[in-house]
Amino acid sequence: MAEEIEKKLVQTEEKLSSLFKRIDDIAFYNQKKVLKAYNEARVNTQCFAGTTGYGYGDLGRETLAKVYAKAFGGESAIVSPLLTCGTHTISTVLYGLLRRGDVMLSVSGQPYDTILNTIFGKDNNSLEELGVIYKQIDLLKNSEFDYAKIEKMVKKLKPKMVYLQRSRGYSERNAISPYKMKELFDLVKKLSPKTFIVVDNCYGEFVDKIEPTDVGADVIMGSLIKNAGGGLASTGGYIVGTQKAIDLIATRFTNPSLKTEVGSYEFGYRVYFQGFFLAPHTVAQSLKGACLIGQIMQDLGYKVIPSNDIQPQDIVKSVVFGNAEDLIKFVQTVQSISPVESYVTPYPWDMPGYDDKVIMAAGTFVGGSSIELSCDGPIREPYIAYFQGGLTYEHVRVLAEKLLELY
Ligand SMILES: *Cc1c(COP(=O)(O)O)cnc(C)c1O
Repeated sequence: MAEEIEKKLVQTEEKLSSLFKRIDDIAFYNQKKVLKAYNEARVNTQCFAGTTGYGYGDLGRETLAKVYAKAFGGESAIVSPLLTCGTHTISTVLYGLLRRGDVMLSVSGQPYDTILNTIFGKDNNSLEELGVIYKQIDLLKNSEFDYAKIEKMVKKLKPKMVYLQRSRGYSERNAISPYKMKELFDLVKKLSPKTFIVVDNCYGEFVDKIEPTDVGADVIMGSLIKNAGGGLASTGGYIVGTQKAIDLIATRFTNPSLKTEVGSYEFGYRVYFQGFFLAPHTVAQSLKGACLIGQIMQDLGYKVIPSNDIQPQDIVKSVVFGNAEDLIKFVQTVQSISPVESYVTPYPWDMPGYDDKVIMAAGTFVGGSSIELSCDGPIREPYIAYFQGGLTYEHVRVLAEKLLELY
């Protein structure tokens, strides 16, 4: 039995060998890019030390921002453990750039669930309540941009912000490659040069050789307990972009007089530096793991998005189960092979920021980290498990073995 499973695993890996090779090539490219950023920013051991109080002249904070800006092709950056999560980071960018009467135009459909309360609502300090006008253009059925509508709307509205989300979030569409974004960004800049192009980059960092900022995005942002933290960062978010955009966002991150001149962190920045250095490799590990699990579930007859014949554009694999029971069983299996709290059985529950009940497996060292092996799914049609992460490919392979045993 064990031998048969190992044979099946090896066969599946053989099928994936050219995909794995491409993922390794990208990781090698990104490792060099990141290393160059560390060298140019003159990272030294003093950068790892913590500070207290206001944190004036905090070398770690300042150098970390330089490293991110250089590696991600931006002019400036805010990288901070004081940004509590991805949602907070994205919201800081939105509040930083949008004013009364401005139009925010989302061109990749509805933003991630937890951002919706930033955009809509009464008596909650939402953008809507502050007088920002939100418009949305959905992606076409094949996950392509709706160029006809985008061109018309950008011409007519001259939006302050064009917003897009690289990863699929909780939807069935594909993630968007930065190479594909270029054509869109060129068009937007041609029609409306002052528009800020803002990309939710969560789950997309280091998946490809370039980031959206390399093809004209004004701002990218994401969570440090996903790709960019490399599995080591214990909390935080990053924002990278043009000097103009980052200066405006900094007035909201702290206040108009403080901007990025303050912010201390007593525990120090070593995990942030080390984590970002590891991130290209960690992302490759989790990508390969996701492709392996995706292939196994597909071979078992489930629909998997994206299928392995396309290059993945984020670290997430969606497995479509079609019923709540199979979804819950899969998530519980992921929890059962976790290094932390493997003895816990997860059940669907009401999570802050989400409308449907969500079931989540996160037996992680860093609470809720999804660059670590993790899985979640809202309990709604068509019952999809969003699976991601894995600090080491070997760990994900253990899950693969377990799934082959179970099914
Ligand atoms: C995770 C995620 C967010 C929100 O980040 P949190 O850290 O969970 O608040 C936003 N957008 C996308 C695409 C994400 O994957």
